[in-house]
Amino acid sequence: MNYATIKPLDVANGEGIRVSLFVSGCTHHCPECFNSEAWDFNYGEPYTEEVEEKILALLGKPVIQGLSLLGGEPFEPCNQRVLVGLLRKAKERYPEKTVWCYSGYVYDKELKVPSRARCEVTDEMLSMIDILVDGRFEKDKKNLNLRFRGSTNQRVLDLKECERTGTVVLWQGLATEKL
Ligand code: SF4
Repeated sequence: MNYATIKPLDVANGEGIRVSLFVSGCTHHCPECFNSEAWDFNYGEPYTEEVEEKILALLGKPVIQGLSLLGGEPFEPCNQRVLVGLLRKAKERYPEKTVWCYSGYVYDKELKVPSRARCEVTDEMLSMIDILVDGRFEKDKKNLNLRFRGSTNQRVLDLKECERTGTVVLWQGLATEKL
């Protein structure tokens, strides 16, 4: 896996101050994607053990609320197989820190049922994520006032509750959002 960027103090992609990892590779190719250079799986730098340790060290800082995974597409199977290792370590070392993940794949229509995204580690990935922002960016539904997402079709899911109940549960942190 390659990655494009690590943001050590990100306040835009999830609650609080977070460490954000932008991975390379995305097969959705949404029109007017904000990050089309990262469609290429070879974009950016190789994700090495040293890079992973750097992320985990950043995550350990008291000011950091958690880890955010973005792309590119974290749920491309080749990216999942690497990220699952990062999430295992993050959860083991910092169980109190939250994990947010942004995916163009739709949770109940593509991540929980057979699709090109599903692989042997998908369920484990889903079990370690707290909040999932799902769905492709749709330019006709773009809204700059949305928090944590770009178009109105995208959802901010309370993934722990989704997994526990077997239904789609929206994150209550956006309950008072005014558009
Ligand atoms: S899923 Fe995200 S990174 Fe991939 S093409 Fe769509 S907007 Fe771009």
